[in-house]
Amino acid sequence: MNKKLKMKWFTFATYILLVLAVMLVGYTMMNNNKTLKNVITSFFEVAENRSFDYRQSLKIIHKQPVPNKDIIVLAIDDASLEMLWEKYGEWPLPRNVYADIINHIEKEHPQALIFDLLFIKSMQKEAHCDKVLVEAMNKYNNIYTGMNFDGQTFDIRRPIELPNRLSIEVDNQSNIDIKKKYGFSNCRPIMSELLNGNVHVGIINVLRNSDGIIRKIAPLMEYRGNYYPYLTFGAAINYMSGEEVKKLSIDKNAKLIIQDTQIPLTKDGDAILNWYGTSGTHTIYPMYKVINEIEGKIQGQKLDFKDKIVIIGTTATSLHDTKSVPVQEGIYPGVEIHATFFNNVLDNNFIKQTSTFVNIAIILFVIALVGCIVMLSTSTIFAILSTTLFAIGYVFISYYTMELFNLWIPVVIPIISIICAFALSFLAKYLIKSRDFEYQYKLATIDGLTELYNHRYFQETLASQIEISKRYSQPFSLIIIDIDFFKKFNDTYGHQAGDAVLRQVAQTLKKNSRTTDIVCRYGGEEMSIILPNTTAEEAMFSANRIHKAVAERDFQLNPTETGKVTISVGVATFPDNAETAQDLIEFADKGLYYAKEHGRNQVVKIDTIKG
Ligand code: GH3
Ligand code: MG
Ligand code: MG
Repeated sequence: MNKKLKMKWFTFATYILLVLAVMLVGYTMMNNNKTLKNVITSFFEVAENRSFDYRQSLKIIHKQPVPNKDIIVLAIDDASLEMLWEKYGEWPLPRNVYADIINHIEKEHPQALIFDLLFIKSMQKEAHCDKVLVEAMNKYNNIYTGMNFDGQTFDIRRPIELPNRLSIEVDNQSNIDIKKKYGFSNCRPIMSELLNGNVHVGIINVLRNSDGIIRKIAPLMEYRGNYYPYLTFGAAINYMSGEEVKKLSIDKNAKLIIQDTQIPLTKDGDAILNWYGTSGTHTIYPMYKVINEIEGKIQGQKLDFKDKIVIIGTTATSLHDTKSVPVQEGIYPGVEIHATFFNNVLDNNFIKQTSTFVNIAIILFVIALVGCIVMLSTSTIFAILSTTLFAIGYVFISYYTMELFNLWIPVVIPIISIICAFALSFLAKYLIKSRDFEYQYKLATIDGLTELYNHRYFQETLASQIEISKRYSQPFSLIIIDIDFFKKFNDTYGHQAGDAVLRQVAQTLKKNSRTTDIVCRYGGEEMSIILPNTTAEEAMFSANRIHKAVAERDFQLNPTETGKVTISVGVATFPDNAETAQDLIEFADKGLYYAKEHGRNQVVKIDTIKG
């Protein structure tokens, strides 16, 4: 493999190791610290939810989805509340007022009248008003009202048995466990005459996200072993089927199936609402206008209820059940949530969230891609630009998948992954580069056979040592070593044994030198040692020690044989014996030559001989 490619692989492997290490450290830290885990997971959850809100808001601006014209919101808004309060002097309204409203609207044959209101058991003195409401509600078969499940203990409230007609049979082939999050053990009953009459009753429990915003609603909930539909879900599927739906199925892919409509459910059994606009998107009739009509005070156009789906509830900000939705603009839409749910069922238009499996695949892809970008780019600017472009592209994709396919792909974790991956891949690149630099440096300065410094390093060091010595007026010495009769040695034992001896002589030199001494291979079987801050006397001492160590050592020639070699040594000291590097080497060489001439196997400093 060519060296560049090999380096890239090394870098990529280091990068993957770094990613794994960071993941492992993060995972263990989070598992050991519950608070940290909560902070981090809720940060990601809130941020991801906010990004969902932005995507929904943008989609509304860009795509301008058209809400169903047949859905009417009959809102007890702030103006209506003023008027009703003025007229009746109390809130909640006396229930006979609702009876009047029902009778008035039903004259025009609406498709459904859905009350997002709780008609719980009332006080005795209200009994006559309740009776009128019950009569009106039971007179028609298209009236829906809500009730709440809860988890009150049995000693506070005995759970009631709901009539069979309210439950819905569910064939669940998915692995969603509805009971887990939406299973309830108790409920707050509404008027028994409504439960036992022919009014449709749906559940109006909602679970908000941790930031208080409603993004998801469970279409089905469980109570004492039976399943019950969410108020508008029940109304919508009956409307769509043209008959009372008593049986439903959830397929293996967690889709709730009603004829051609398939509602994708989350792993908790929620449907994610898809918004058509901010509050006030669906046609709104304020309640006071209906009251005016009932009293014959028609101003402007008459309200049109024919064949409409009328959803009645509060939107007034001063009422307690205000609800926050992802796309609100300062006002609380309340009953608009029901209108949106109803509309989503009719349009088969819910949001689907990618599965955990897909999310993990996305993160792995992002990590791999950013790694490749950084590995392959030759300039930092290019790497930064292309990674930034990729991140921006991903955000765009996440937006368009929501607009075009109603698909919610994660954004926060992938973007954070891109940033982390970028940092880690740069770190990997830096680590490998610095390692390679060390390797290249070693290649340039170290002799491969003996692992001593090479000739070039020797020359450079000698030159700089002369400068240092001059500046600090310190002497230093040079020793040159040549192995005796080495040609003969090679001829006798072979070149390989010669190499082995060269390595061992080098080891011996290193072992018998100070750590500050620079031991080099001068060339062939000649070696040299630079001894900084060393006088002639100290150098002679060192040289003799080395000479003795070599002479005494048994050299391993091959696994079975040992042998002996001797060395001749020349010594020189700066500035005593020379003024330049060249002269210093020459001086030491002269000593060496003298030693060779006079029987080898000895240490010579030529000035001490002549002197
Ligand atoms: P002397 O120095 O005692 O005069 O005799 P010599 O035989 O050692 O002579 P010289 O120093 O001129 O010989 C150098 C020999 O060292 C030549 C070569 O065979 C051997 N030699 C040089 N470099 C290497 C090496 O890297 N490996 C081996 N095995 N031998 C080497
Ligand atoms: Mg030689
Ligand atoms: Mg020699």
